[in-house]
Amino acid sequence: MSKPAFRDIVAAVTRSKGAPFTLEPARLRAPVNDEVRVRIVATGMCHTDLIIRDQYYPMPLPAVLGHEGAGVVEAVGPEVRSLSPGDHVVLTYGHCGHCLSCCAGHTSYCTDFFRRNFGGSGEDGQVAITTPDGALLHDHFFAQSSFATYALSRESSAIKVPKAAPLSLLGPLGCGIQTGAGAVIHSLKVTPGSRFLVLGAGAVGISAVLAARLAGAGTIVAVDVVPTRLALACELGATHAIDSREPGWVEAVRDITGGGADFALESTGRPAILAQGVAALGPRGVLGVVGASPQGTQAAFDLNDLMIAGKRIQGICEGDSVPRKFIPELVELHMQGRFAFDRLVTFYPFADINRAAADSEAGLTLKPVLLVDGHA
Ligand code: NAD
Repeated sequence: MSKPAFRDIVAAVTRSKGAPFTLEPARLRAPVNDEVRVRIVATGMCHTDLIIRDQYYPMPLPAVLGHEGAGVVEAVGPEVRSLSPGDHVVLTYGHCGHCLSCCAGHTSYCTDFFRRNFGGSGEDGQVAITTPDGALLHDHFFAQSSFATYALSRESSAIKVPKAAPLSLLGPLGCGIQTGAGAVIHSLKVTPGSRFLVLGAGAVGISAVLAARLAGAGTIVAVDVVPTRLALACELGATHAIDSREPGWVEAVRDITGGGADFALESTGRPAILAQGVAALGPRGVLGVVGASPQGTQAAFDLNDLMIAGKRIQGICEGDSVPRKFIPELVELHMQGRFAFDRLVTFYPFADINRAAADSEAGLTLKPVLLVDGHA
């Protein structure tokens, strides 16, 4: 194999736990095998980027994060069959493609998911990004590390989208949006006329509201602590909004739903809210857990309430989505005007990445998208 060529890039580097992102010159190697190099046009910022910055999970640092990239294929490795330079792609999580979960079509439960997405290097343990003087930067975050002007991904994680679609908007479909929508459609399988409760009206939660409306849920209750988020949830399909700081809110949900929700989605990552969500379920209700908390976090709830009422709790990763199928479906729904996830998005110049993070954490922005294209 010939020695790979390098491309000069600019990357937002996370140097230590909780530190601001720093925009730095770096170098990215050329694609080999089934890899693709993508010119990043825009990349979403998900809460998961911030919890890795804050080391909820022990991804090695310094690292280049970013896992909602959208861009244009610039170069492909020799094994790539379905993508060519110039194609528009949305980048999504990595999976091995040959474990039992992957073979059964459950790629988000790939047995190698954690290492591939949070391990900080490729399958061979090597990184693809270095500083200009050759120091290693951990990468391969969600098979992309897209807080950069160019990213290296793989054919299986680069999802081709129509050129007519607004590429700079589409990156969040690769994680947060497909997680919320997929949780409703694939994992919980919310049914027409049912009563749906979403805990946390952030990007994932409001995507779930949009999907619950598409699925025909009759009652959709959104719970959050940020009034503007609750208001947007109502504009986009929630029938009721509740501030969880109000005492007795669980009883209010039970009243609104006539005895408890059939389906609930926990996206706050807070164990106390999860326990209250279980209490807010009706008989045989199911609560999906997507919210991420620090490793080792435990939750407590009433076991008898779970058992006697036949309730269930279900962990959900990436909305049980098969991205090659689901992302183009969401693009199509958006283009038909039936999936208004653009209402969640605020665009920021790439150079303002720390302002985007601060706005997101302050509840001012739901889904920041960094405009990377044109950044020198
Ligand atoms: P977000 O920060 O936009 O949303 C979380 C929401 O919870 C916010 O609106 C916040 O105001 C609300 N909240 C916080 N405390 C609350 C409380 N006590 N009561 C009610 N609401 C409260 O984040 P997001 O991007 O929507 O992601 C949600 C979670 O899902 C994060 O933990 C993220 O890491 C995780 N996530 C998981 C997956 C997965 O595959 N499981 C994928 C993407 C994101």
